[in-house]
Order: sequence, then structure tokens, then C-alpha cells
Amino acid sequence: EIPNLSVPEFVLAAGKERPDAPALIDGLKGDVITHGQLAAYVDRVAANLHARGLRKDDVVAVFCPNTPWFPVVFHGIAAAGCVMSPINSLYTPDEIAFQLKDSGAKVLITISLFLDRAKAAAEKSPVDEIVVLDGAEGHANLFDLLGEDAPSVQVDIDPANDLVTLPYSSGTTGLPKGVMLTHRNLVANVAQCRPLIDFGPDERIIAVLPFFHIYGLTVLMNQGLAWGGAVVTLPRFDLEDFLRTIQDQKITRAFVAPPILLAMAKHPLVDEYDLSSLTSILSGAAPLDEQLALAAQNRLRKGADTGVSVAQGYGMTELSPVSHTTPDIGCEPPGAGQPPKGSVGYALPNTECRLIDPGTGQDAAAGERGELWVRGPQVMKGYLNNAEATAHTLDDDGWLHTGDVAIVDETGAYTVVDRVKELIKYKGYQVAPAELEAVLIGHDEIADAAVIGVPDKESGEELPKAFVVRAPGSELTEEAVMEYMAVKVAPHKKVRFVEFIDAVPKSAAGKILRKDLKAR
Ligand code: ATP
Ligand code: MG
Repeated sequence: EIPNLSVPEFVLAAGKERPDAPALIDGLKGDVITHGQLAAYVDRVAANLHARGLRKDDVVAVFCPNTPWFPVVFHGIAAAGCVMSPINSLYTPDEIAFQLKDSGAKVLITISLFLDRAKAAAEKSPVDEIVVLDGAEGHANLFDLLGEDAPSVQVDIDPANDLVTLPYSSGTTGLPKGVMLTHRNLVANVAQCRPLIDFGPDERIIAVLPFFHIYGLTVLMNQGLAWGGAVVTLPRFDLEDFLRTIQDQKITRAFVAPPILLAMAKHPLVDEYDLSSLTSILSGAAPLDEQLALAAQNRLRKGADTGVSVAQGYGMTELSPVSHTTPDIGCEPPGAGQPPKGSVGYALPNTECRLIDPGTGQDAAAGERGELWVRGPQVMKGYLNNAEATAHTLDDDGWLHTGDVAIVDETGAYTVVDRVKELIKYKGYQVAPAELEAVLIGHDEIADAAVIGVPDKESGEELPKAFVVRAPGSELTEEAVMEYMAVKVAPHKKVRFVEFIDAVPKSAAGKILRKDLKAR
């Protein structure tokens, strides 16, 4: 049963029962916003937006890093019946302008540090107003206005139809697409995760993954607040800040992406902090290798009273974002037994899945790979201004075609192989870059790696090429990498080219930017 509530009504309800408990904590500065203050500020932001002429369905773009004010602003926008379109903090003015224009944003909310980029973007794609949270000359400052006595607004929201957010997909495979998500989509997804990821109200979540990505917005921000807990924000990933914050703020849960687990497993700094408060880590957004998960888990368990659970979820912007997760510590898997290592676990409640054989377009045979299709209350309404992409992704029966290849076992546990588009096609085989990357990272002298397919002019086949980041002090050669791989994988998966690089290009949400590697 999905509560028929708006996002702020649903997410802020538990906190209203414990108004003095911390809701949001700035991990760097220590500033605290209690649940009581959060509710009051949200009311003020909504009133303020209304007073400045914004009305239901108007789009407000938010270009801000993670701070306690981001959730205040998001829920305020939502309570005003407006639609929050979050902008990636790394975007250039051109990229920001694209999103402002495509989304039709009327107001752009930012911080002084980002103001130059915001202004340059607004010159190309004008907005009515730029609001600067921490103040800047000539711009409205929402904080000053929080105390103003604009009358509270009561907006009629139809959760099933009204949009609450318009995030843009990561643009990993092409131009970012505006994903239309309703109040019900987001409420459903928080509620659906509940049986598999169980929070207590005294939990503290570290929010280092960006709120501007749907994983940060739903799983870190909304899920954290919805159970009355506290969300501790960090504006960017810096390993020392991250570790110190876990230690000092007694963080119980971390929702991360694989690059953070890679650091947790391999970086020497990790041993210098007391991370014993941490009971659960959930990784999502990109493929997580089981060995890497295990290495991080074993390392963190040292000194902890209880074990640390490392769970993995799968999702996409179009799914608000979660469709699958392995059960968290203390949660029963819905099927028999535990999901196999490396899997993304079980479909959430109310989530139907199919695996479609790309060759025949029919359901794949039991135990065979297929493209994952998902249907449920978390499926987006569609892409904005892009009927063609919508028709291609969301069919008339409500199935979302994920573009990812997966396999399911007899207990109902899913394992994601890779994106259909990124599989390297070689002599009738399909080689998953994620699999080769996992093997590469398993080498002691390899700090990080990424694999792409490069066309072979003679045979017309695609051949795997590895970009490798050597561990400090390593003198690994190209030949040594190829020999190592030749022993580890079947001949058709052999890495044919190796290039050493300083760092693997990754998006803010932790995805390998293969597009950038291909362009090199
Ligand atoms: P675009 O659609 O614009 O190309 P994107 O697909 O990277 O960008 P997101 O919606 O942020 O944008 O990411 C969803 C994708 O992330 C999924 O389709 C899948 O390929 C990948 N993904 C997410 N979680 C996992 C996981 N646990 N294992 C493997 N892949 C994952
Ligand atoms: Mg996508």
C-alpha cells in the first residue's frame, strides 16, 4: 500500500514526532537542523516561492552541492507544488544552459561559489531570477527570507500525476534526458525499500553522493529523513573528510558507489580512523565486484562489535531509482536463502521484472541472460520533451526497458551483467567490460581500471582495451597486464590493448565515463 501523500508530507512525517532530534548535519561545519526546524523552514521556503510568483508545476532548478540546505530547498519547492530540477555540480555553463532550457526552469537556486557558472548559463538560457543561498550582491537570498511572514501555502497536490522532480539522467550513453518523476514515484520508492533496508530513527546516514543524482535524492536524503534519522552531508568526496566524518559523527550507514568502496578496500588511510559505528554500507549506481565488496567488508569488520553488512542495490533515474537490492543486515530475503555474492538481490515489493532475449524479443529461457524490464509504481511518467526516447524505453503496458543485461537465479536474485550498449561484441560472444574491470582490480598492483571495446579495422570485431591505473610504486608493464588477464579469463575475453592512465574518468555518481575513454 503506497501512502497517497505528497513527498514532503510523507518524508517529513516521522520527524514531526521528534522535533528536537537532528535531521540534517553539515559534516564539515557541524551545523545542525533539527526535524522541527526542517518542517518550519520547508514551510517558509514554500511560502517564499509562492510570494515571488511561482505556482504549481513551475520548474525550479537547483545547482548546489550537498549541504543541509539542499533538502530544505527541495522539500520547500515540493511543498509549493513546484518541480525541482537538480543540476550536476560539475556541469559547465553550456550544460547548465541545456538543462535550464529543456526543463523550462523559471528560477535557478545556487550558491555564491557556483554563481559565475550559473550566470553564464542564464545568459544563454534566461531564467526569471537567480537566488543565491548564501548571499551575493544583487541576488535574493532565501535564508534572509526564511524569517519573513509570507502566509503559509496550501497547495493541492495529486501525488499520482503531479511531478515533484525532474532529474536528468547521467548522460553516460548520450545526451542527458529529463526524467519526469511524480510525488507517488518517490514516495513509493522510499516505502518499497523499507522491508529490505531497515532504518531505526537513531541512525545517521552519511550523504556524500550528490543529492542532485536520484540515488542521493531518494535513498540518502528522503529515506534517511523518512524514518526520523539524521542525514550528515558532505559537499564532495574526499577520503579523509569522509572517514573523519564517519568517526566523529558516529555514522551508522553509508550509501556509496563502487569508487568509494574501492578506496575503503585499498587505501591505507582507512586504518587510521575508528569506523566501528558503521553497521551497513549499500553500494549502487554502477557494477560492484564481489571480491571488492568482500575486501571492504573484511577490512571494516576489524574492531567493530558487529559485522558490517555490504549490500548492493540496482536502479536508474527512470526508476526513482531503486528496483532491486540485496537485503540489509537484519532483513529477511523474500525468497529462500541468501542472494549470491555479486548480485543486486531481489526485486522490491510491487516490482515486476522480465528478462527479454534481445534476439527473439521473447522472455529469456530460465537461467539465461536477457534485457531487464521493470514495472512498478516507481517507474517514471516519461522523458520530458522526448516522445521518441519515451516510446523507446517505456512500453504501452508500463514496462520500463532498462537497457541493462541481467540474469536471475531460482531464488529470484538478480545479477546485472552490464549495459546492453557497452557489451563488447567479439566473434558472436558478448564480453562485459564490468567483468574484466573486476578481474583487473583484483591485481594487487592495479589501483583502478576501465575497459572499452575498440574496433579492429581488419576483422571488424571489437577488441577489449584496458585503461589501467597502477598502484603507487608499481612498475607493471602492458605485457604483464595482458599475461595476467590471459590466465584469468577465457580467450575471447582477453585484453588486447593496455594503456596506463592516472585516473579513471568517473561521473559524480561514480560511473565510469566510457564515452570519454572512447573519445581519447
Ligand atoms: P544515461 O541514461 O543518460 O546514459 P545513466 O544510465 O548512467 O545515464 P543513471 O540513471 O544515473 O544514468 O544510471 C542508471 C544505470 O546505472 C543503470 O541503467 C545501470 O547501467 C547502472 N547501474 C546502476 N546500479 C547498478 C548496479 N548495482 N550494477 C550495475 N549497474 C548499475
Ligand atoms: Mg540510463
